[in-house]
Amino acid sequence: MRRLVAVTLVAALSLTYTAPAHAYLKFGFRLGDQTIDVRWPAGPIRYFISERDVTNVTAGDLRAAVARAASTWQALPGTTLSFEFQGFTTTSPAGADSRNTIGFLDRPDLDRVLGATSLLLDGATGTIAEADIFFNTIFPWSVADAGETGRVDVESVVLHELGHFIGLGHSAIGETELTPSGGRRVQGSGAVMFPIALAAGSTADRALQPDDIAGLLDIYGSEATHGRTGSIQGRVEQNGRGVFGAHVTAFNLITGTIVGGFTLNTDGEFVIAGLAEGPHLVRVEPLDDADVESFLAGGVDVNFRVAYAPRMLVVPKGGAAAPITIPVVPK
Ligand SMILES: [Zn+2]
Repeated sequence: MRRLVAVTLVAALSLTYTAPAHAYLKFGFRLGDQTIDVRWPAGPIRYFISERDVTNVTAGDLRAAVARAASTWQALPGTTLSFEFQGFTTTSPAGADSRNTIGFLDRPDLDRVLGATSLLLDGATGTIAEADIFFNTIFPWSVADAGETGRVDVESVVLHELGHFIGLGHSAIGETELTPSGGRRVQGSGAVMFPIALAAGSTADRALQPDDIAGLLDIYGSEATHGRTGSIQGRVEQNGRGVFGAHVTAFNLITGTIVGGFTLNTDGEFVIAGLAEGPHLVRVEPLDDADVESFLAGGVDVNFRVAYAPRMLVVPKGGAAAPITIPVVPK
């Protein structure tokens, strides 16, 4: 009997309005005295689709959209990821039943949540034992090729939720502004894994961005891929004390891509892997473009000013750049 650990990602995609963002986050699982990546064991990830239609989208349409999004993730060169459709099911896309189920669900109580993913982890190994994704029926959905004004694009939201399904958290690469109603409107996003959705009708999130790709390669990259990509690591500190939850981004001066990460412990340490080799400009900023809780649980420090690493970091092929300490000062 495996001890299962539930992780529900209320890390759902919240509905606010508009456009695209880059910085990935992996889920970590504490096993003994170390934190390991949350990931699927080797082999194909088998899933079922709930036999349920909603206005404009049949279960068959959903199946096709999931197949497209799954192939977008697994088609990235150098990954070991593969998905396999098992069939339709009458079971609900929630709850532990040893089936990975994706489908529509009535969740009128979650009126800002388009969809969410829940994971069950094997407590002995930290690997994912089961995952379910639901899409909330209270929203108008669409599978139109070019998108449909006022209706949420199924494939875009599937691509985001599948990111959680394979063990990715949210990216903080994006810019938002507050709306008069207290929501947030996305001004620019550089990651499918940004927690706030684009405007209903947009299909821009059907394609992965460099930050999403770096996250995927970090967890599911083949050995050859790990030999080709590199990483940066270091520490963010204020008055000698580690800063938790700082958003750290690496801008590749050759390719112009941005990949981000976070300081994930109270020592203020961060690691960003899956990077292309070459010179990077590293910037640190407080999380401020969504609810902090949509990235990390509790204790996040947001009271400091944007800062840059005191020197450029050169990421070597298959290795790590020399660690860097980045001091920040209070706002
Ligand atoms: Zn999400």
